[in-house]
Amino acid sequence: MEREFLLHMTGGQGERSYANNSSLQRTMMLKAKTMLEEAIRRLYRHSSPKCMKVADLGCSVGPNTLLVISNIIDIVHAACVGLNHEPPTFQLYLNDLYGNDFNTIFKSLPEFYTKLVQDKGHKSGSCFINATPGSFYGRLFPSNSINLFHSANSVHWLSQDPFLGLSKEALNKGNCHIVTTSPPSVYKIYLKQFQKDFELFLKSRSEELVPGGAMILLLLVKTETPRRSIFETISLTLSDMLLEGLIEEEKLDSFNIPTYEATMEEIREVIQEEGSFFIEESEIDMVPWDGRKIEDGEDFSVDGDIRAEFITRYIRAVMEPLLVANFGTKVMNELFIRFQKKVVELMKVERLEYANLMISLTKTCS
Ligand code: SAH
Repeated sequence: MEREFLLHMTGGQGERSYANNSSLQRTMMLKAKTMLEEAIRRLYRHSSPKCMKVADLGCSVGPNTLLVISNIIDIVHAACVGLNHEPPTFQLYLNDLYGNDFNTIFKSLPEFYTKLVQDKGHKSGSCFINATPGSFYGRLFPSNSINLFHSANSVHWLSQDPFLGLSKEALNKGNCHIVTTSPPSVYKIYLKQFQKDFELFLKSRSEELVPGGAMILLLLVKTETPRRSIFETISLTLSDMLLEGLIEEEKLDSFNIPTYEATMEEIREVIQEEGSFFIEESEIDMVPWDGRKIEDGEDFSVDGDIRAEFITRYIRAVMEPLLVANFGTKVMNELFIRFQKKVVELMKVERLEYANLMISLTKTCS
């Protein structure tokens, strides 16, 4: 089946759903509020649109999806009050791949619209929400139509398995992501895919943005300090299972987790080479895998089990549909039990953190 259908977070509102296991992503998203406020103020210096068109790319499903929208509406309203402008009408586009559970979002819209009017006092008929299914690695909207793009926790997903059409025999045998023992060529293959994808992403967005339009991206990156990636940890868990004969070799050989955590330099290079965007500001924030700030000297083992369980629940909501498509449902419980144990062990000796990049871009007016 096409990857565009396979990659999606766990839908619905059940115990294992992304909707119920995405509080970490919410924490990350909310950190960009100040950057978003600044970008919106900047937008208003160029123009004051009567209809503000905003798209959230990789919206997924659950409370985060509508929270982004609600925040953006609030920020624009506050900016308009400050500038003595009439608030605009909003046309908001929710984008994700075709397999995303858009229906669950649609069902939550009546409540969202009611709250907007009753609790926030917005005019009824001032906000129109649309869905735009499709890959953000390509065109999604007409030229010159969008004022603001927002994307959280999504652009580190690649458009495809970077080894597609290549053989990973010997290169990264027994692994399905970049691990510490992977040769540099594996890293290069991932990087090449990222460069190609990110360039296409920027090119597509620059055509869709109005002149002076803005884009805020939040994505996982790599910094100079070597840091374990959560995707590497899944790969290590699968490698253990292969050694114990719990999964088939061919299945691991033909699968690679399609995510890449680029460095700021790699990101900057693509932006400069593509040439349509100016970097207004960027900030890298360290976020522990369980979202809680760990103070120096704190005993990691105290509630390691609880922390690891929380991490396992959200990464399962993110990864399970993709892993099931390749390895089948039968091995999922075993995989995540092992993953959780591994996290408990790693936590005792390492600081498990994400480096989360927030970057604010403006379309250059050439
Ligand atoms: N923004 C939400 C969801 C992040 S999960 C939040 O912060 O909570 C990442 C989402 O990106 C997933 O729903 C996944 O399906 C989507 N995604 C990954 N690659 C994509 C692509 N090429 N085009 C559109 N969406 C994509």
